[in-house]
Amino acid sequence: MENQEELKNTENKAHTENTEDNTYEKVCFMCRRTESKTGKMIELPGGMTICPDCMQKSMDTMNRPEIKDMLNLQNLSNFQNIPNISFINLNDLPGGIPKQQQLKKKKQDKKPQKVFDIRQIPAPHKIKASLDDYVVGQEHAKKVISVAVYNHYKRVFTNTMDEIEIDKSNMLMIGPTGCGKTYLVKTLARLLDVPLAIADATSLTEAGYIGDDIESVISKLLAAADNDVEKAERGIVFIDEIDKIAKKKNTNQRDVSGESVQQGMLKLLEGSEVEVPVGASSKNAMVPMTTVNTKNILFICGGAFPGLEEIMKERLNKQAAIGFQSDLKDKYDKDPDLLSRVTLEDIRKFGMIPEFIGRLPVVFALQSLSKEMLVKILKEPKNAIIKQYQKLLELDEVKLDFEDGALEAIAEKAMERKTGARALRAIIEEFMLDIMYEIPKDDSIGQVLITRDYIEHTGGPVITMRGTPSLEG
Ligand code: ADP
Repeated sequence: MENQEELKNTENKAHTENTEDNTYEKVCFMCRRTESKTGKMIELPGGMTICPDCMQKSMDTMNRPEIKDMLNLQNLSNFQNIPNISFINLNDLPGGIPKQQQLKKKKQDKKPQKVFDIRQIPAPHKIKASLDDYVVGQEHAKKVISVAVYNHYKRVFTNTMDEIEIDKSNMLMIGPTGCGKTYLVKTLARLLDVPLAIADATSLTEAGYIGDDIESVISKLLAAADNDVEKAERGIVFIDEIDKIAKKKNTNQRDVSGESVQQGMLKLLEGSEVEVPVGASSKNAMVPMTTVNTKNILFICGGAFPGLEEIMKERLNKQAAIGFQSDLKDKYDKDPDLLSRVTLEDIRKFGMIPEFIGRLPVVFALQSLSKEMLVKILKEPKNAIIKQYQKLLELDEVKLDFEDGALEAIAEKAMERKTGARALRAIIEEFMLDIMYEIPKDDSIGQVLITRDYIEHTGGPVITMRGTPSLEG
């Protein structure tokens, strides 16, 4: 008897351990699916868990007229007096499913630490200072974007968007490929911890044609906000390659991916209620729909606008050719900052419709990256490529250094490729492959110095063994 009591106690203990130990997924006692698949489980007495679907099914069954009648006819308590029929008390059952049959919960990804609270949005100079940690150069762009974001979120959280009719600070970013447009927006969204959707304007078409509907950008944002509509409504949408939806010149066909897309985007940019599918990118009968208001969503459009410089030069030369101030014709040909003088008229000439430009009141240009900036990108940002490799080799207790000349050589090579900072990683990866392959072979290597000769394939890296005084003292 005592033994039985003891057994029961240990079972109960095991049972509580089982249910309290929240590293294991709860499993539905009926359908055996885990909580991650079914949604929040309903706990029943006796440590049983049941998923909402099965619960609903049971309720439905109980409500069926024939079952209802049956339950009414025979009062269950009468059964207890019938000999040889015993009822099982679920509470007495030993603790649920054995551990070896349970699934461990997936570890939740650590949430990136947000730097700012957008409810108390910091002053623009603080936003810029944080951007400085990651984005090299582009001072003007960082300044403009900090001010615009500051104003936007201040208005959103003080709810003055409706009272004073100020235009939304949607932005248009112009800059050559690989100069950091996407990177700037991504960094900003991460610092502010707001959801970000990045879309490509080239894939968008007028509703009903092959391609993504314009509203799909809002579904992407909703997905980025974990289907939380409120969170999505204060997110950022970045639409890249916006120059590709310029009006097509000399065409008689219907322009479903150009001007029509611009037209279709007008109401999104301005703020409207959009009905979007949840958890899918296209509308169909099978997916639930929800309504998202785009009034507080910040839209940032970016593009390289090839050919815009020619349009600007034409305008500037025309101005300069009039009157006494006439200038040399090729004055603007070599101006690296030409894009910063962009006007709305230039963008209109490029092929964007006036209504569209009118809804992007903040226009600014990013500079193309110079050699010095590329060198800085290699070594200065918090997550600089070189720092990443140094960290990797540090795990093998090897010190990795780069000669200044080597960094310059990498930057020069990247400049030749004309894809901005994007080329840097590709180049570094090419020659770091051998280093990463050879170094772990030999435990006695203590330091590696990458030289300019190594980058230019005229020499090798300088390798120092452990125990010898290092090259740089
Ligand atoms: P694009 O202007 O074409 O959108 P990206 O923003 O995608 O170019 O830049 C590509 C990569 O180059 C980024 O992931 C980033 O690592 C790097 N990069 C570009 N510009 C900068 C910059 N100014 N500072 C730091 N890294 C940069």
